Amino acid sequence: MSEYDFDLFVIGVGSGGVRAARMSANYGARVATAEEKYMGGTCVNVGCVPKKLFVYASHYSEDYQHAEGFGWGNARPDFDWPLLLKNKNTEISRLNGLYKGMLDNAGVTHFDGRARIKDTHHIEINNKVISTDKILIATGGWPTVPDFPGREHVITSNEAFFLESLPSRALVVGGGYIAVEFAGIFKGLGVDTTLSYRGELFLRHFDIDIRKTVRDELKKKDIHLAFQTQVKSIDKNADGTFTVNFESGKSMQTDLVLYATGRAPAVSDIGLENVAVAQRDNGAIIIDEEFRTSETNIFALGDVTDRLQLTPVAIGEAMCFASTQFLGRRKVMAYDNVATAVFCQPNVGTVGLTEAEARDSAPELDIYRSVFRPMKHTLSGSDEKFMMKIIVDRQTDKVLGVHMVGSDAGEIIQGISIAVKMGVTKEQFDATVGIHPTTAEEFVTMREVVSE
Ligand code: FAD
Ligand code: NDP
Repeated sequence: MSEYDFDLFVIGVGSGGVRAARMSANYGARVATAEEKYMGGTCVNVGCVPKKLFVYASHYSEDYQHAEGFGWGNARPDFDWPLLLKNKNTEISRLNGLYKGMLDNAGVTHFDGRARIKDTHHIEINNKVISTDKILIATGGWPTVPDFPGREHVITSNEAFFLESLPSRALVVGGGYIAVEFAGIFKGLGVDTTLSYRGELFLRHFDIDIRKTVRDELKKKDIHLAFQTQVKSIDKNADGTFTVNFESGKSMQTDLVLYATGRAPAVSDIGLENVAVAQRDNGAIIIDEEFRTSETNIFALGDVTDRLQLTPVAIGEAMCFASTQFLGRRKVMAYDNVATAVFCQPNVGTVGLTEAEARDSAPELDIYRSVFRPMKHTLSGSDEKFMMKIIVDRQTDKVLGVHMVGSDAGEIIQGISIAVKMGVTKEQFDATVGIHPTTAEEFVTMREVVSE
C-alpha cells in the first residue's frame, strides 16, 4: 500500500488535465483532480468550443446574403444575441457535466477549488492537505494585456463570451488567432469592426500567402484593418463609449475594445514558491520529454508550459504522460507537422513548414499555389477567393507544407495532415484521384510550379 493518499494529483481540469487524469486512472493509478473554475478548462468554457459556435452564428449573415443568388429571396431574420448566449451557455453546461462524468466513470476523486502545492508531495485544497506521489500541473494560461493608460477599459476573450449586449462598434487589438477570429465574429454579427495590429501584417507565424489572403478577404468584408498601429491610451467618454488614442496621433471612437495580445502561463498562486520547479522568464514551466519539471515527481503539460497552445497538443501530451507514467510504455510527443486552423472567415488551415521556414530547410523548393473563386460563389454573388498552396522539396519530392484559406480549411487540412505526417511526396498527391466537384480536389490537381 502506497504511503500517499493518491498516486497522482492533477491541478486543473482543462484539455490536458482531464485527459491525463482519466487515462492515468484507466491505467490503474489512484488519481485526484482539482478545478477552481470550470470543468473542461479554457477550450470548453472560454475557448475553442464557444468560439466555434460564435463563428457558426456569425457566418449566417453571409449565408443569408449568398442564398439570394440561389433563389431564396432576401429574407434575413433579426439576430438575437441573448438567445445565442443562452443556447451557448446551455451547451457548455452540458459539456461541463460530461467532463465531470468522465472523471467519475474513470474513478477519479475530484475536488472543486483552488489547489496549491505545499511541498513536493502535498497539495492544499479547501483547507485540507492531501498527499500524493506525483503532481501534474495543468493550469493552462490566462490572457495578457500590456500596461497603458486606460487598460482597465478593455476586455479580453474571456469576457467576450459573456457580453450582455453586442456593441455597435468594436476595436480588436492583436494580430494572432484570437484577434482575427473575433474580428470575423463581430463583423458577421453586425458590429462595425476595426482590427489594429502593431506589425506590418497579422498572423506572423503563418505562411505569407495565408497572411495576405486573409488580409484581402477581411478587407472585402469591410473589416477595417489598421496595421503598424499601437494603442497609446484609452479614455472612457461620458456616454460610456471610448476614445482610443494611437501612438501615431490618430484616435477613434468605439463601444468596445477587445485585447487579444497573447496568453501567459497560469502559474501565480499555485505554490511554486514551495518547490524547486524551474520556469522560463514568462513563467512557463520547464519540462523534459517526459513532462518532468526540475522536481522529479512534479510534471507539467499544456498551455502552462507555453509551447504550442492548442487543445489537441495538450491532449496528446496528456496521453504520452499517462502512458509513460502509469502504463509503463514510454511515449514521446511529436511536435512536427501539427496541423492547425484559424477560424477567421474564410478559415485558415495549415500543416508543416511555411515557405520561409522551408527555404531555410531545403536548398530548392517547388511552390504550387492556386487562388480561385469557389463554385458556390458563381451564384452567391460573393467575390470571396480561396487560396491553396503546396510547398515541395524539389530534391526529395517531399511535401513540406500545405496551406489553405477557404471554407472548411480546417476540415480539409486535417485529412491532408495525415499524409504529410507520413512523409507524402508530391508525386503521391498527383497520383490521387480527386473528388469532383469539391474545393479539396484542387490539392491533387495542382501541376504548375508558380515559384521556385
Ligand atoms: P486549460 O484548458 O486552460 O485548463 C486549465 C484549467 O486549470 C482551467 O480550467 C483553470 O481554471 C484550472 N486551474 C488553474 N489553476 C488552478 C488551480 N490552482 N487549482 C485548480 N484549478 C486551476 N485551441 C485549439 O486547438 N483550437 C481552437 O479553436 C482554440 N480556440 C481557442 C479560442 C480561445 C478564445 C482561446 C483563449 C483558446 C483557444 N484554444 C484553441 C487554445 C486551447 O483552449 C488551449 O490550448 C487549451 O485549453 C489548453 O489546455 P490546458 O489543459 O493546458 O489548459
Ligand atoms: P497569439 O500569440 O496568437 O497572438 C498575440 C498577438 O498579439 C500577436 O499578433 C502579437 O503581435 C500581439 N501582441 C503581443 N503583445 C502585444 C503588445 N504588447 N501590444 C500589441 N500587440 C501585442 O495570441 P492570442 O491571444 O491570439 O491567442 C493565444 C493562443 O491561443 C494562440 O497562440 C493559440 O495557440 C491559441 N488559440 C488557438 C486557436 C485555434 O487553434 N484556432 C484560436 C485561439 C487561440 P506579434 O505578432 O507582433 O508578436
